[in-house]
Amino acid sequence: MLPEKLSQQKVFYYFERLSAIPHGSGNMGDIAQFCENFAKEHSLKYIKDAANNVIIFKNSTVGYENYAPVILQGHLDMVCQKMADCNIDFQKDGLDLYVDGDFLKARGTTLGADNAIAVAMVLAILESDNISHPPIEAVFTTDEEIGMIGARALDMSVLKAKRMINLDSETEGTVTVSCAGGSDFEAKLPLKKVSAQGAKVSLKITGLIGGHSGVEINKNRENANLITARIISSIKPYTDFGIISINGGDKANAIPNCSTVDFCVKEPNVFCENAKNVIDIIKQEICDREPDFDAILTTHANSSYDVFEKDVEQKLLQVLLCAPNGVTEMSASIKGLVQTSLNLGILETTENNIIFHFALRSNKKSALIFLESKLGALFDALNIPYETFGHYPPWEYKADSLLRDLYCEVYSKTTGNQPTVIAIHAGLECGVFADGIKDFDCISIGPNLYEIHTTRERLSISSTQNFYSILLEVLEKLNP
Ligand SMILES: [Zn+2]
Repeated sequence: MLPEKLSQQKVFYYFERLSAIPHGSGNMGDIAQFCENFAKEHSLKYIKDAANNVIIFKNSTVGYENYAPVILQGHLDMVCQKMADCNIDFQKDGLDLYVDGDFLKARGTTLGADNAIAVAMVLAILESDNISHPPIEAVFTTDEEIGMIGARALDMSVLKAKRMINLDSETEGTVTVSCAGGSDFEAKLPLKKVSAQGAKVSLKITGLIGGHSGVEINKNRENANLITARIISSIKPYTDFGIISINGGDKANAIPNCSTVDFCVKEPNVFCENAKNVIDIIKQEICDREPDFDAILTTHANSSYDVFEKDVEQKLLQVLLCAPNGVTEMSASIKGLVQTSLNLGILETTENNIIFHFALRSNKKSALIFLESKLGALFDALNIPYETFGHYPPWEYKADSLLRDLYCEVYSKTTGNQPTVIAIHAGLECGVFADGIKDFDCISIGPNLYEIHTTRERLSISSTQNFYSILLEVLEKLNP
């Protein structure tokens, strides 16, 4: 239970109500029902669709009848994480909220303020009769955390508004104005093997930092798969070997921090000596940014092994050494923003293929399409089949944005500081809306929220109060 002083404030009252309803991704029925009941109780028009998205419509307040409508948007699902000794069953239990100084937390679990605080603020606005605002279209989407499933399924044609305030950001002084779109690119090199005799040597890359392939792609992190390729190609002139298997990374959207190659080797001592030389060179080269990098060689018994045919091995190395990887383009509009990038997240040897799985991203749709065709050209040249899938649209930066200008004006007047305008190189639901709404004007904002998706997730109470009053002033001052 929250202290009465806090739950008397409507935003925290609704946050507590929402937190009592289980709402992990994939478990959206009850929370969507709650929103539906809310709309009925307050005699507000609403739509609940097959994906459990809920849209609630509220007329403007007096004097704002001719104003353009605005979408207030957040997502209904949360990431469920709990500590080992926590007994909460996310399928049926609510969260155990408590206050710690200025922070709201949940005992033993994620707090789910990502994104229940957005829903709570919007419900407080929908319920109010003393807040001035244009017509509101409140959009609560489902299953954002597992691939923006609700937003993708949403019928945008029921929305009249072209302006949207997305409330899924986590830093009060920051306003997000663009996000990346992306796609998956997967190529399959058919595997042909021959039998070889020799010792098996395993090479294991460890200790790399890794990270998110969007927001951390510009941090100079090494990709384990590319290091293995460098080692293999460096020792090739000195000794004879065959590759039994090569594997690294298990998620397309994570920079792989380890990888393993098994070789069949004629002269293990010569092989290992040459490998160690190149490993030492790489260590010296990258120690400033990858201090824990290591590559371990283990020699096993002599035997007969199936290894890649030479033309397969050659194509494997050509892909790994020639395919672009990492940042390919920076934004000219927003300083420091990666515009376009790709990450070879998964390299896998299966029974019949070597699989290369890249995650591609760009904050410009045309640049994403061009990157796909560039990468495709390389695989075409090597005669390796590939496909692209999992496309999600970017939210492109707009030079003229009334919402951005108004938010910056209200924020700086209220706090005395200019907000930081940023774009992110990762996906947001705003991208899906930008793709479905013509002449879209949008900002993504939110109160201070820390360590989301972990059991340390905490929401600043004072920041939520400040942020909410800024949000109300933005609604009040929106131009017709
Ligand atoms: Zn979120």
